Order: sequence, then C-alpha cells, then structure tokens
Amino acid sequence: DLKVSHIKHSYGHKNVLTDLSFELNAGEIACLLGGSGSGKSTVLRTIAGFERIQSGQISMSGQVLSAAHVHMPAHERQIGMVFQDHALFPHLTVADNIGFGLFKWAKKTREARVQQLLTLIHLEGYDKLFPHELSGGQQQRVALARSLAPRPKLLLLDEPFSSLDVELRERLAREVRDILKSEGVTAIMVTHDQNEAFAVADMVGVMHQGRIEQWDSPYVLYHKPSTRYVADFIGQGV
Ligand code: ATP
Ligand code: MG
Repeated sequence: DLKVSHIKHSYGHKNVLTDLSFELNAGEIACLLGGSGSGKSTVLRTIAGFERIQSGQISMSGQVLSAAHVHMPAHERQIGMVFQDHALFPHLTVADNIGFGLFKWAKKTREARVQQLLTLIHLEGYDKLFPHELSGGQQQRVALARSLAPRPKLLLLDEPFSSLDVELRERLAREVRDILKSEGVTAIMVTHDQNEAFAVADMVGVMHQGRIEQWDSPYVLYHKPSTRYVADFIGQGV
C-alpha cells in the first residue's frame, strides 16, 4: 500500500502542498481532481521522487521513499509514469516501444510479456506498426502498456488522455480500468474530467489549497461531499 502523510512541498516561497495526506491500498486505483494549479502534478512528482518534500512522509509497502531527510532516487522506486505528452519513440515499432524498459529481460520472456500486453490493450497484430500509423487513443494505450511492462509497484498517470476528445476519453477510461485491474497494479491518475475519474477510480481525492479536501469512493464523494468546496466542485461537472 501507499501512504502519504502530511507532506509539504514548496517551489521557492510558493507553498504548493501544505499538509497533504492519503492512503491507497495495494491494487486500488485513485484519481486526483482539483482546479488548475492546485498541485496535482506536484503530488505525482513528489511520489515519483522528482521533487523532495520538506516535511511529512511517503512510504510504500512499509518502505520509506521520502521524508524530511530521506530521498530514495526516482529510478529505484519502481514507479511507472504516463503523461499526456509521453510521446512514443517514433523510430521504434509498437512491440519495441512496449518492450523498451525490458532490455535486461531474456528475449523469450520479453517477447511473451509484450504479446500479453498487446492482447490486454486490444492491439494484437499491431506489433510491427510504427506510432504514426496509430490513432491517438491507440498511441496512449501503447504508452500505458510500455509503463506497465516492467511491472511497476505503482503507476502514476498525469492527464494521460487529455489530448483526446471527450467521447473517446470516457470510453477509454473504462478500458483503462480493466487493464489496470487485470495487471493488479496500484495506480494514481490525475484528470480534469470528473466523469473519467468516476469511471476509473476506487478512490477519488479532491485537492484544494495544498491539501486533500476529501478522499472517498466516487459514490460517497458524489452523494456526501464533506465540504462546500467539494459540493460545488463536483456539482460543476454534472
Ligand atoms: P494543472 O491542472 O494546470 O496541470 P496542477 O494541479 O497539476 O495544475 P501543479 O503543476 O502541481 O498544478 O502546480 C501547482 C503550483 O505550483 C502552480 O501554482 C504552479 O505555478 C507551481 N509550479 C509548478 N511547477 C513549478 C516549478 N517547477 N517551479 C515553480 N513553480 C511551480
Ligand atoms: Mg498538472
């Protein structure tokens, strides 16, 4: 499981995360919602280890990743990331893109893993194509498969589908949930799209003023917003 307790982070004098906490069980999917500039990407960056925290603690499966005087390097954390603009390598095939992080694996094992992921993202037979031969949604599924390939302990997704149109995005959201669940990976996804969050998440967090204002299941968040801010925020999009 992932435990984020009372973390603080500022860029210079700008306090972005003031006292942020949440917990996520292994295998669960969380979505972070919040206004632009509320610090959603910063939360992912601190968990990934790209930013140091000034106080508080981040731990995963009982191991401390970040604390005031602890900072495990990002590459040792076994955390995968998918971004909106996480471009695929244009000169590599779909199969080589997905297998990119598996260079240390034996060839047979790597090929089997790539095939397994191609099936999972419903792109069997696309292995020899190049990224420019795929649609936007297909490219983002390949990017997702590439991040899942090395079996990360945690997957962080920062608005991975925001460049796609709404209809495709919400169709993809349900598919992504199935993909993450069959891999059994723990994941946190940042999104602007509340419907997408509700379709994907086991737990939803609403960020406001550097904190998690409410952390609950989509059902509870929707039916029992704990503060006026959450009620207004959730009310907007429905
Ligand atoms: P969006 O929804 O627009 O992506 P966000 O919730 O992801 O926003 P962050 O990117 O985490 O927000 O940024 C939070 C605040 O920190 C913003 O006010 C931003 O201007 C500031 N900020 C982000 N990155 C840096 C940086 N590298 N240096 C200085 N300030 C930064
Ligand atoms: Mg952001």
